[in-house]
Amino acid sequence: MTTIPQVTLNDGNAIPQLGFGVYKIPEDQTPEAVLAALEAGYRHIDTAAFYGNERGVGEGIRRSGLDRGDVFVTSKVWWTENGYDSTLRSFDASLERLGFDTIDLFLIHWPAPRSDKYVETWRALERVHEEGRARSIGVANFHTHHLERLARETATVPVVNQVELHPWLPQAGVRRYDAAHGIATEAWSPLARGRILQDPTLERVASKHGVTPAQVVIRWELQLGVIVIPKSTTPERIRQNIDVFGFELDGDDLDAIAALETGERTGKDPDDLG
Ligand code: NDP
Repeated sequence: MTTIPQVTLNDGNAIPQLGFGVYKIPEDQTPEAVLAALEAGYRHIDTAAFYGNERGVGEGIRRSGLDRGDVFVTSKVWWTENGYDSTLRSFDASLERLGFDTIDLFLIHWPAPRSDKYVETWRALERVHEEGRARSIGVANFHTHHLERLARETATVPVVNQVELHPWLPQAGVRRYDAAHGIATEAWSPLARGRILQDPTLERVASKHGVTPAQVVIRWELQLGVIVIPKSTTPERIRQNIDVFGFELDGDDLDAIAALETGERTGKDPDDLG
């Protein structure tokens, strides 16, 4: 079975560099998808309160027969719940739905800067971390100016910043800031929701290595050093997306993929949400 590299976080905990995203998987199909992922060798599942499938994630893990400690699970507080007390309530509800006593990683899902509550949300995450109920805490969709404000006003550095990242949007500025401050960058929609996979450059690089465009993109993200969480409900693709450790992209491939940057997002700009 594939051995997935681990990334050591700034609090000393380790996260598998490749995980399985479950956004848009209906709750009733989630246990099966999670089981397929665990059978394929994934040991890291990325969910969120907003996805409405945390119960399915917990059930899939329990049905796998694996020890809880063998699977790294992330969840997130949705931006409408940003704020100190509402985040504490949301955290409790996530744990209850998952059926866990602790979670490996809990994130602020979006800074939602207009409502101006992400600093107090972060203080709630610091509290559940101090209580030992969230082993690690981090953020998602933070621009560097949001991270700079957290650094000015709070004492804990997020372990990860989970942002949209794929060849159209390689996020060099965010990655540079994160790296300089001990924050691991995590790529959401790493396949640009599947939309990038017909790109002729990716098809050419894929055929050169005898792999698929999705495998090229995931491999590129791993070689950038970011954590990556592709989603699929197709068992063949679930297996394919983890089978990315038997080839390496060379300098020519990396240059060709770098030329695909357009800045195009599949989701919202974090300053425009909330
Ligand atoms: P992805 O970039 O992972 O793309 C998923 C899409 O690509 C699906 O339509 C899937 O189809 C298709 N696909 C997957 N593998 C292959 C393959 N090998 N060949 C062809 N098509 C493929 O999109 P997501 O938006 O789901 O992002 C991944 C995860 O990131 C989410 O599930 C979630 O956990 C997280 N996320 C976090 C966000 C945040 O704000 N923090 C925002 C969005 C996502 P099919 O399922 O039919 O196989």
